[in-house]
Amino acid sequence: MLALQGGVAEHLTALERSGAEARPVRRPEELAQVHGLVLPGGESTAMTRLLDGFELFEPLRERLAAGMPAFGSCAGMVLLAGTVLDDRVEQDTPPVRPFGAIDMAVRRNAFGRQVDSFEADLDFAGVTDGPVHAVFIRAPWVDKVGADVRVLASVAPSGHGSEVTAPAGRIVAVQQGPVLATAFHPELVSGDERVHRYFVQTVRAS
Ligand code: GLN
Repeated sequence: MLALQGGVAEHLTALERSGAEARPVRRPEELAQVHGLVLPGGESTAMTRLLDGFELFEPLRERLAAGMPAFGSCAGMVLLAGTVLDDRVEQDTPPVRPFGAIDMAVRRNAFGRQVDSFEADLDFAGVTDGPVHAVFIRAPWVDKVGADVRVLASVAPSGHGSEVTAPAGRIVAVQQGPVLATAFHPELVSGDERVHRYFVQTVRAS
């Protein structure tokens, strides 16, 4: 669990409940000991700065390039992208430097002001027993994916089950090899660890 910033505790709990031995990662030595890494939600610009400050950016880039399984939620999804699109960067916001672990273009804060935060029930490939309740908080969406990327979930056309009507058909969960990313926060739905279990299975399988 990358533990520099953001929603760390909920992910640790969900990972433990999924049968993983979860621990926080803040130093390169800690990164070297894990078989997979979760990148939490939070603020991707801040995380970029902290990854540099903690001298973790380059070691993590190397692990990901070598095929380490990873799961990024929200800001974590942004960090795993190949390209980050952002129409609304404040002048002095340092840019996000993504790892390019998934061949995709991700748009930060994509759902905009009206639906800054919303919830929806989504069909999620890899989780078969019913829809996944998804919590979106200033979430990104995926604009474009490469041929090797599997789309795991999109926001349904009718906004099925959502309290707010979100733009339809947007890709919000993807997988490339052992790396997954969700625009939403499965760690915030306590008592439902299906997405984390799917990730833990991916780590074991690799
Ligand atoms: N908007 C944030 C970013 O782009 C992500 C928000 C979140 O992780 N909940 O980094």
